[in-house]
Amino acid sequence: MAVRFLTIAAVCDTILLNVLFPHLTAVRIEGLSHEAGVVHVEARSEADEAICPVCSKASARVHSWYERRMADTPVAGQPVLIRLHVRKFVCGTLDCARRIFVEQLAGLTVRHGRRSLQLIGVLLT
Ligand SMILES: [Zn+2]
Repeated sequence: MAVRFLTIAAVCDTILLNVLFPHLTAVRIEGLSHEAGVVHVEARSEADEAICPVCSKASARVHSWYERRMADTPVAGQPVLIRLHVRKFVCGTLDCARRIFVEQLAGLTVRHGRRSLQLIGVLLT
């Protein structure tokens, strides 16, 4: 049975979210749902800027948004799938080899990763 997305305020408070998803404190959780035995988390990056992976300079110039889907550590034995809205930034450094780059969220994502860093850590232990 599918449960439609609900606002977080209607489901639980920030303390409970921090207990269940401590690695998601850097993003805004916009919704939770449970469908076909899978917990779905919808989240969005909120940082004002991101660091270019080539020149290490910060950029606040957003190029576009896109959606990443990544597996996360299970909650109460239920698999978790994160739908994460992240941004592409324009690097403003004139001599940088990278014009556009995707933000990486510390403690959560890696380039081209389809699993959260927390899940990768669990799988490696
Ligand atoms: Zn750069």
